[in-house]
Amino acid sequence: MYESEALTRVKGVGKKTEQLFQNMGVYTLGDILSYFPRNYERYPLPTTELEDKTGEYIAIEGIFFTKPLSRHFRGLSVTSAKFTGHGVELEAVWFRMPYLANSIQTHMPYVLYGRLNKKGTGFRIEQPKLFEPTAYVRLTKTPQPIYSLTKGLSNKTVSKVCKEALNLCLPVSDNLPSEIKNDRHLPDRSAAFRSIHFPESEEDLKKAGRRFTYEEFLAFFLGQTLHQRQEAKYKNQFQIEKTDLMNQVKENLPFALTDGQESALRDVLRDFHEEHVSERLIQGDVGSGKTILAFLCMLAMAENGYQAALMAPTEVLASQHLSTILNLIEKYSLPFQAVLLTGSVTAKERKSINAAIASGDAKFIIGTHALIQDAVEYRNLGLVVTDEQHRFGVKQRMSFAEKGQHPFSLVMSATPIPRTLALILYQGMKVSVIRDVPSTRLKIKTAVLEEKDRKSGWRFIYKEVMAGHQAYIICPLVEESENSAGENVTDYAENFRKVSKGTMSIASLHGRMKADEKNRVMEDFAAGKIQVLVSTTVVEVGVNVPNATVMMIENADRFGLSQLHQLRGRVGRGQDQSYCILVNSSSNDRSKERLNVIKDHNSGFDIAERDLEMRGPGDVSGVRQSGDLPFIFADLYTDHEVMNAASEDANRVLDQDPDLILEENAGLRRLAENGLSEIYTNL
Ligand code: ADP
Ligand code: MG
Repeated sequence: MYESEALTRVKGVGKKTEQLFQNMGVYTLGDILSYFPRNYERYPLPTTELEDKTGEYIAIEGIFFTKPLSRHFRGLSVTSAKFTGHGVELEAVWFRMPYLANSIQTHMPYVLYGRLNKKGTGFRIEQPKLFEPTAYVRLTKTPQPIYSLTKGLSNKTVSKVCKEALNLCLPVSDNLPSEIKNDRHLPDRSAAFRSIHFPESEEDLKKAGRRFTYEEFLAFFLGQTLHQRQEAKYKNQFQIEKTDLMNQVKENLPFALTDGQESALRDVLRDFHEEHVSERLIQGDVGSGKTILAFLCMLAMAENGYQAALMAPTEVLASQHLSTILNLIEKYSLPFQAVLLTGSVTAKERKSINAAIASGDAKFIIGTHALIQDAVEYRNLGLVVTDEQHRFGVKQRMSFAEKGQHPFSLVMSATPIPRTLALILYQGMKVSVIRDVPSTRLKIKTAVLEEKDRKSGWRFIYKEVMAGHQAYIICPLVEESENSAGENVTDYAENFRKVSKGTMSIASLHGRMKADEKNRVMEDFAAGKIQVLVSTTVVEVGVNVPNATVMMIENADRFGLSQLHQLRGRVGRGQDQSYCILVNSSSNDRSKERLNVIKDHNSGFDIAERDLEMRGPGDVSGVRQSGDLPFIFADLYTDHEVMNAASEDANRVLDQDPDLILEENAGLRRLAENGLSEIYTNL
């Protein structure tokens, strides 16, 4: 079992390299198996024709007639040489690589690979890669993995460590029965891991991807059905007779509930009177007001003497929910106590919180997955609400039941999906859809900018900040990366600070920061101490800062449409007009068209339908739809053929073995219970 061993197990990996991997969330050999390439580079066959190829990545075979020359230019070492092949000549230029002047051989064939530029009347390639011709031709036959990197770690190193990790860890256990693999033509798990990192061909890579996609869907369907069946066994022991307080609060809210909120609330109250407990999915667009709905349902439980828990995926969200709920309790003078339980409360606090929960004094219990730890004992827990919940596995959901509690369960999802897909994905589940958002909300004005016009976006932010508002700027990367040209939070924030000359307080936020550091930044932003937050997509989920009126998204073309819509939903939460600025870094017409969908539509459901229309099966746009769906590899929009197959198989298996207790289904049982963490080792 090498999977749980440290990376230092690999020859040549010392403490320093290990630390770099840890910065990327890779701790064990097993983790690196699931550290999938971000993308693949495809090397083209060497060309003989350069006209019309300016701006493209090309390869050309030829020779250096003379040794390269190294000079210093403004402190930068510049090495250059003329390269001749097939009757054309171009200039190769390298920066900071003076040693090339000695290592390059003249009169020896090379292949030069890089992005072709025009220079005067001639051609030029900067930082070209050099290959021995036969080695290059071999490269053109296989997609070459590109990994997300951190400063100090090269793609080559990741690839090398990965190869070693595969050699040590394979074969790994496989939860799919061979019957299914044969029927569906899926490679086994070990082969899939190998092919994802070192594909032998495009076909090989596709197959590996299909296997992971299938497995994710299968785990989802099995888990969902199993969970439903389990719940259906439990009698509803709760008596929800009183709804006076709930109605009173509802009538006195500063707004009227939307039709969607009202009907979802009716659905939940009807569930409360059924013979068995159940789970219901509330699918509502960003800003559709799921929090107040959750609160009203919790209140109905509380006024009948039961506890209700609200579980959020992050501490930031959990504490935000607590303060929302405390405000409501105070405003409406409700006779209930609310507590917050997260991983970062001190042992002493935890003790008194646990006591308040165990005694039943605390009726509103808000927290992170700390809520399902062993030490927490509930008293008459009637309802568990999970916000953006699909990040929690089925096993975590079932763990309330294992504690001897059989509460109702509400799952809040903010990812609208097209109706046709929802029918398959949520088959057999109780679903309430909130299609409308409060009409009091102003539509967010959205613009698409080209990168060269970025400054006008910045000026706009400045104007809004001077008017007392706040802004988000989203970048896809955390820090500069060797093989990814996108904007990164670290440099961007620094640059923006310089440009704005101290007129605004600017902070950065990303997933590699420690939890308490992240909390502090988020709290400062919520409190208005920070005016511009430069962040990765960690702000995507649920954060509510009504004073923020601008959302600027860099490299917007790199994000999925529903992800862009989610991000945009972070603004437009207050009284004031809000704006979204999408910065397009692609010259591709399709990118523009996709971004215009966001500009022209405000409803997440409409965007989801358009997204489905625009993306056919097998479409490899490389952007994930993200959101809170429990998939990493699978893409609902392009993989629905695989989704159908997995759905069929899940139903067939469960017909034969309803509780998955047969020996041959042990692997499927694990998949159902643990979901993604059973498939990937680094979750
Ligand atoms: P989400 O569904 O994205 O979680 P929230 O619950 O955070 O949305 O609600 C967003 C904002 O809309 C909150 O400030 C909330 O008070 C407000 N809100 C909720 N319901 C309504 C409504 N029916 N009319 C007006 N505002 C509402
Ligand atoms: Mg929410």
